Formats: sequence, structure tokens, C-alpha cells
Amino acid sequence: EAKTDRANRCTQFSMDLRERMEEKIALEKDLLRALDRGEFVMFYQPRLCVQTGRILSAEALLRWQHPERGLLGPSLFIQACEEMGLIIDVGEWVYRTVARQQRELGEAGIDISLSINLSPRQFSDPELIEKILRLPEETGCAAKRLGFEITESVLLGDSEAIRTALRRMKAKGFEIIIDDFGTGYSNLAYLQKYPIGVLKIDQTFIKNIRTSEPITRLILSLGNVLNVRVVAEGVETREQLDWLVENGCDEYQGYYFSRPLPLAEFVELYRTQQRLEPHLKMVTPKQP
Ligand code: C2E
Ligand code: MG
Ligand code: MG
Ligand code: MG
Repeated sequence: EAKTDRANRCTQFSMDLRERMEEKIALEKDLLRALDRGEFVMFYQPRLCVQTGRILSAEALLRWQHPERGLLGPSLFIQACEEMGLIIDVGEWVYRTVARQQRELGEAGIDISLSINLSPRQFSDPELIEKILRLPEETGCAAKRLGFEITESVLLGDSEAIRTALRRMKAKGFEIIIDDFGTGYSNLAYLQKYPIGVLKIDQTFIKNIRTSEPITRLILSLGNVLNVRVVAEGVETREQLDWLVENGCDEYQGYYFSRPLPLAEFVELYRTQQRLEPHLKMVTPKQP
């Protein structure tokens, strides 16, 4: 009895494994075609001034409009892209697309900046920096209106190459943003060595704002001392926003105000806010 049980479990296990491998192979095949077929799309999540509630910028977030599975978020495919080395091409599609959309926003009189996520793996592209530096010439975007979000892990090696690369980007006008701050190794020295303009506090600290109060306060004063703007990510409740107001955080983003939106919907939201500008304080954000 026990024996057949074990045998069944073994068969079950290899079936699960096999299914998972088949799924992975199918995913990789689909991903290879996704770029050519134009299935990727950028969504935008507004980033707002904590004090005024005004939209200052937006984070560009990748989505995959899969023909059968529907709209997929990056947690379902970014890792596969990285393992396949496809993240270089997908990443390039992302920054070129966002650069073009920044130019289009500018032409429509929407003067806000957009930020682009760069995964650590994209830095293995020896031409990454040159391609980024060429964006203004090639797409007509304003470098001053584009930011690049990198995680602490990119800075960990403390290589001269990274430092030079970030300095050149900064010199061109691009903003350097540290994403998910507080979750990596806290070698604070790099904050001074690199031309960082913005720190994004990781969502986990905002989620438990009461228990992580000391750390969040520390990050806020760090930003103050270093003259770097601090952004809170993942703000979902009025209580979290109130805490940020009281403690002098500069900017925030999160479901409390808006989820990431398709570009057209983002533009509509922005224009609505512009129209309501005189009464901004009276506008209650949408609940998620
Ligand atoms: P991230 O850069 O830290 O982006 C923030 C994530 O938090 C986004 O998830 C966003 O939708 C989500 N978020 C925003 N507000 C809230 C909130 O109030 N509550 C909660 N629970 N979540 C919130 P998303 O879009 O699934 O992206 C996940 C990660 O995938 C990103 O984390 C980023 O590391 C990566 N990613 C996204 N787009 C790109 C891209 O274009 N290129 C690269 N290389 N990576 C990307
Ligand atoms: Mg980000
Ligand atoms: Mg983040
Ligand atoms: Mg992240």
C-alpha cells in the first residue's frame, strides 16, 4: 500500500516537473516571438508630490499582451527574459519606446518625466550606455525628462565602469534613481560616489509603515542630508499617505492614487487633474 503510494507520488512529481518544463519551453518560444509581433506594451503609474498631490512623473512598467493568456505582468516573464538573454533586446525596446512616448507627451504639452527600469542583467550589454546616450538624438526625447531606475545590486561591484557610465548618463541630463532602496546590502558609501537624484523606498517598508517607522525615517533623513529626493512606493492607504505627509517624504506612488495605466488613460488622468488644479486638495483619490 505504502509502496504504491510512493510510486504514485513519484509519477506525480515527474509529471509536475515535466509539465513545468513544458510550460517553460512554451513561454520561451512565445517570448521569442513577442517582440516581433508587437505584443509588449508600456503602462504608466503616476508619481505624485506628497504635499500638493500633483502628478510630477510616471514610472514605465512593462506588460505583455499575450494572444491567449491576456495581459501579463513582469513577474510572469522578466526572469525568463533574463535567463534567455532576451532582456537585452526587450530592455532596448522598452527604453526606446518610453523615450518616444516622452517626446509625444512633450509635444502634447504634458511636461512630466518618465522613468525606466533597468535590470542588472542589461548592464552586461557592452553598448547599453551608448544606446541610452543616443536616445535624445534618435527619438527626440528630452534627457531631462527621463530617469533610469537601477537597484542597489548594480552598484555593489563598485566598478569604475559603472561609475563612469552613470556619470555620463547624468551629464547628458538623465536622472539616476535607486529602486527598492533598503532591501539590498547597505553600503551607504555608494550614495555619495554615484550621481543619484532619487531614492525609492522599497514597498515592504511602506506596507508596514508603523513597524518600519525607524528605518523609513532614517531613509528620509538620508535623502535630506544627501540632497536626494525620496519617493515612497506601494502606497495603498490614506494612513500611509498621512504618515508620509507628516514625515516630509517628497513623492509617492501606489494603488491609493492609481494603478499603472495604459498611456492614453494616464494622459486622461493627468488632464483631469490639470483641469481640477485649483481644487486639487479637494480631490479624493480613487480607492483601489
Ligand atoms: P518595481 O520597479 O519596483 O515596480 C513597482 C511594482 O510595484 C510594479 O509591479 C507596480 O505595478 C507595483 N505597485 C505599484 N503600486 C503598488 C501598490 O500600491 N501596491 C502593490 N502591491 N504594488 C504596487 P510590476 O509592474 O508587476 O513590476 C514588477 C517589477 O518588474 C518592477 O518592480 C521592476 O523591477 C520589473 N519591471 C517592470 N517593468 C520593467 C521594464 O520595463 N524593464 C525591466 N528591466 N524591469 C521591469
Ligand atoms: Mg521601479
Ligand atoms: Mg521598486
Ligand atoms: Mg523591483
